[in-house]
Amino acid sequence: MEKKIYEKPAITKHHSGFMNKFGSSPVTTPKSEVDGVSVNAIADQYGSPVFVLSERRIRENFRNTLRTFKTRYPKVQYAWSYKTNYLNAVCSIFHQEGSWAEVVSEFEYDRARKLGIPGKYIIFNGPDKSEQALLKAIEDGAKIHVDHFDELYKIIELSEKTEKKPQLAIRVNMDTGIYPKWDRFGFNYENGEAMEALRRIVMQPTLKLIGLHTHIGTYMMSAEAYRIAARKMVVLANELFTKYETKLDYIDMGGGFPSNNTLKGQYLQAEQVLPTIEDFADAVTSELFRISYHGSDMPTLILESGRSLIDDAGFLISTIIANKRLSDGKKATIMDGGVNILFTSFWYKHKISPAQPTGLSTENSTIYGPLCMNIDVLREDIVLPNLKVGDRVVIHHVGAYNMTQWMQFITLRPNIVMVMEDGTTELIRESEDLEYIMSREKLPAKLSEFKL
Ligand SMILES: *Cc1c(COP(=O)(O)O)cnc(C)c1O
Repeated sequence: MEKKIYEKPAITKHHSGFMNKFGSSPVTTPKSEVDGVSVNAIADQYGSPVFVLSERRIRENFRNTLRTFKTRYPKVQYAWSYKTNYLNAVCSIFHQEGSWAEVVSEFEYDRARKLGIPGKYIIFNGPDKSEQALLKAIEDGAKIHVDHFDELYKIIELSEKTEKKPQLAIRVNMDTGIYPKWDRFGFNYENGEAMEALRRIVMQPTLKLIGLHTHIGTYMMSAEAYRIAARKMVVLANELFTKYETKLDYIDMGGGFPSNNTLKGQYLQAEQVLPTIEDFADAVTSELFRISYHGSDMPTLILESGRSLIDDAGFLISTIIANKRLSDGKKATIMDGGVNILFTSFWYKHKISPAQPTGLSTENSTIYGPLCMNIDVLREDIVLPNLKVGDRVVIHHVGAYNMTQWMQFITLRPNIVMVMEDGTTELIRESEDLEYIMSREKLPAKLSEFKL
C-alpha cells in the first residue's frame, strides 16, 4: 500500500460567502495520465511545459457529433476549421474521418493543399483573399465564400479571364438575438444585402452559386440562435428557388458550438449552463426541413465546428517553479507555462489538476506563468492543494486555438505530443530553438560589430 502524504496541520481563514473545505469541488483529484500514458513520463521525455493531444478523444468527439447530426438530417458534411488547430497531425485525423478543410487565409489554404486536400474539398472563408489566392482557388475548384461586394467584383473580373467557373457561396450575417451582433463578416440578411449579392451571382453567367454560409459567433451558449440562423438561411434558399429556380448544393452553418470550458465571469461550471450538441442539432436540422426542395435534392448541411471538437482533447502539462506569498498574504504559485502559450486563459477559467496525489488541505491561490510580465496570470483565484516545486500539473481543455494563437514571446514554444490510440506517444511539433527563431532575422552589416 502506498504511504499517505503527511501535511502539517494548518488553520485556514474562512471567508464569509465562500464555501468551506467540505463544500468545495474535489480539486485534489489528480490527473496522472492521458489515455493511460503517465503525465510525468511524458514530461520527463518531452520536457515541460508540453502540450498533449489525444487522438482517441478527437476521433470520439468527431464521431459523436457527426452521428448526432446525421441521425437528424440525411446529408451532413464536416469541414475542419484550420485556424482552431492546424497542426498537420490534427488536420489529418479530421481528414481521415472524412472532414473537408475550412480555411480563412491563403496560408491556411496552402497548408490544406500541401496536406493533399483537393481544391473542391476546401472551403475558403475570410475577409482577406488576395487576387493570387482567388486565382488559385478558382483554378482548384475550391468553394469560395464571398465576404463583401469588393471581393465579389474582383471575382467577377477574374472569372472573365479564367476557364473555370468560380464556385461561390456567400457568407451571411444576421440578427440571431445574440448581442453584440456579429455583422462584420459577410452580407447582412435583414437589410437585404445578402439577397442582393445572391441576385448578382445568379445573374452573372461566369459564376456558379453553390451554397450559403453563416458563422454566427463563437462559444455560442444558445441553441435558439442557431434555430433563428437556420430559419433565415432557409428563407434565402427558398427565395432563390422561387425567384430564380436556383437550387443550392449546401447550407453551411459554420462553427461556434461551445467547448466545456468555463468562461471568466461565469459562476456555474460550463457543463451546467451549456446546451448539448443534441440541442444544437435539433435546432438546426428542424429548420432545414422547411426548405421547399423535393426529397433527394435537400441541400447538404455543412458544419465547421472547431473548439467543440478539439478543446477537451488537449492538455498542457506544466511544472511548479515556486510558491510565494503576495503582500496581502495570498498564496501565489508560479508555473512554467504562461499566457504566451495559453492564449485562451485570457477568457477561460481553465481547470488545473495536480498530476500526482497530494495532501487534502487546499488554499486559494493565484497561478502565474513564467513571464516577466504583469499580465501573465493563468488563474486569478483557484483552490488547489499544496504543490511543491517540481510538481506537475495538468491544464485541461486547451486543444482549441492555443496551438495556433500562441506567441513566441520572451521564451520559446514547447513540444507538442500526441497520445496515439494504441497508447504510444508521437512528437507532432518540435519545440523551437534559438537557431530556428534567429534564422529569419537579417543583421545589417554596419550593426554586426560592437565594442563594449
Ligand atoms: C473560426 C471559425 C470556425 C470555427 O469556430 P469555432 O467557434 O471554433 O467552432 C468556423 N467557421 C469560420 C468561418 C470561422 O471563422
